[in-house]
Amino acid sequence: MGVLSYRVLAWSLIRDVDASILAVAEVMRATGQARTGFLINPAPEELREILGSRLLDTFFQLLDPEGQPGRRSPRLSGPLPLSTQARRNAARGRETFETLVLPQGEHVRLVTVPIRREGQPAGLIQAGMTLASVDAALGRYLQILLALFPIGLGLAAVGGAWIARRALAPVRAMAQQAREITAAGLARRIPRRGAEDELDYLADTLNVVLARLEAAFSELRRFTADAAHELRTPLTALKSGLEVALRHPRTADEHARTLQGSLEEVDRLIRLAEDLLLLSRATSGAGLARRRVELEPLLLEVFDIGLRLADGTGVTVRMGAAEPAAVMGDAIALRRLLLILVENAVKYTPAGGLVELSLSRVAGSGEVGDEILMVVRDTGIGIDPADHARIFEPFVRLDDARSRETGGAGLGLAIARSIALAHGGTITLDSAPKAGSLFAVHLPAA
Ligand code: ADP
Repeated sequence: MGVLSYRVLAWSLIRDVDASILAVAEVMRATGQARTGFLINPAPEELREILGSRLLDTFFQLLDPEGQPGRRSPRLSGPLPLSTQARRNAARGRETFETLVLPQGEHVRLVTVPIRREGQPAGLIQAGMTLASVDAALGRYLQILLALFPIGLGLAAVGGAWIARRALAPVRAMAQQAREITAAGLARRIPRRGAEDELDYLADTLNVVLARLEAAFSELRRFTADAAHELRTPLTALKSGLEVALRHPRTADEHARTLQGSLEEVDRLIRLAEDLLLLSRATSGAGLARRRVELEPLLLEVFDIGLRLADGTGVTVRMGAAEPAAVMGDAIALRRLLLILVENAVKYTPAGGLVELSLSRVAGSGEVGDEILMVVRDTGIGIDPADHARIFEPFVRLDDARSRETGGAGLGLAIARSIALAHGGTITLDSAPKAGSLFAVHLPAA
């Protein structure tokens, strides 16, 4: 602002000076042309009368058509210089404004105006004015600017800080509100201001994060409660068995039977603990290898185990179409995934039913790469579509009595889903009650 205002002031002061010296030159040309003896004798008194105080700081010089200096103001000690540019412009009938320093050291503004009489060049008039007062005014203005600069800077800093604080106050308030929302009160949300601005966007974003946190926390709470419940049942059975055994004197045979029963409960606890550990590992994805895994041998191995599981149940296990396919991942985890599906299929298929395993590669399109499809299909009891999403949750068993007897804790499908997700894939289910089930594992091909 300082530089700009200084330049504008300098420009407007020079314009005023230009107007004055041009007026002097014009008046001299007019008075001179009106009388016959022009160039020889313009009357100073006459000029003073017309120009008044303007004449005080101005001076002039007359030149003949060749540019030789003629009469000049008494206050000029020597002739004024005539530049080639001014001479060239005068030949074209134009005036020239110049700023220069006279040999005496004076800083002046000069105008050179041509005089024509009857179409012929009749000489030149040069009028000038000292720029001393302009320089003084500009110098003073510069001093004022320099004095005001630190004050302006200080005011800008204070004002800027004030504006910034005011503008950021809602952000601070929002941060305070977010800070007050703790794990205990995750149901609270940050209010929107309704201005549809960046702050509302921030509030929305924070609220989405809070909603996700709330969901994760309540899932964690539910999971912990379910896990505790699941642990308590075998522990209670264990405890009451041991208590009964201690209450009365027993034969060695009876003790052996109690210990056998206890061992089964302990086995169940160990299985549960291992399943929980596996679920947590698969969910975090940490500790899973990332190697190329050929799926065909893996599927054959699981098929073998399926045959043994189905032995004596009247369920037929068979191998459907299988083509060579590989994925990047953890062979042990993938084997476990398939085993869970095959175990379930055998478990929930009545005698006379069929369980079929298959493996295929589906060509991708565009940016989507090839997909590996592993299917475990059974002709068993099927699952109500309303339960399709639910059964992948941990500790969900559809028919408690039946599952208790078959021994599952409801963690199988949750582990299977976590393993598929950790491999960048999904599990889909197609099933209806009494119509059998089809679990399909989709994995990105290696
Ligand atoms: P579980 O350890 O009880 O087998 P899962 O997570 O593997 O637990 O399965 C959850 C529930 O889903 C089972 O209790 C069962 O009711 C149902 N389910 C799983 N697989 C099948 C299937 N192939 N046919 C019918 N129901 C199934």
